[in-house]
Amino acid sequence: MSDAAADPAPRDPAGRDPDCVFCKIVAGEIPSTHVTEDDLVIAIRDIAPRAPTHVLIMPREHIPSAADLADRDATLLGRIFARAAGIARSEGIADGGYRIVTNVGTWGGQTVDHLHFHLMGGRPFTWPPG
Ligand code: 5GP
Ligand code: ZN
Repeated sequence: MSDAAADPAPRDPAGRDPDCVFCKIVAGEIPSTHVTEDDLVIAIRDIAPRAPTHVLIMPREHIPSAADLADRDATLLGRIFARAAGIARSEGIADGGYRIVTNVGTWGGQTVDHLHFHLMGGRPFTWPPG
């Protein structure tokens, strides 16, 4: 297979960016409201929620965005989506439906360059997003 995603450049073994706000949250250097966490991911409440439930699910490791994901991240991504489904159930939004979004880059609306998935629910959403 010649897909570059299968043979990506190695990541920083430190796994963090000293200037990254979400790395600081992962390290406990900036306070946040934790929803759940495990060895690979943490989930926190968004500081500026755009829906009644607005949780950010992110890897502990500093990965800039979904554009940096590769085959090696299959376990991480499975964990993130499993956690999202579990949080949706525990938040009581699973039956009504919800949205999972990850923004990439400037035009995608990404403002924090540490991969995260927005889990949003508790109200209807329109399509396409603005
Ligand atoms: P993006 O714009 O990159 O898709 O999403 C970044 C999200 O992170 C935004 O929804 C923003 O409100 C949230 N955010 C930014 N800084 C903080 C913070 O320090 N704590 C928490 N809990 N959320 C943050
Ligand atoms: Zn980071």
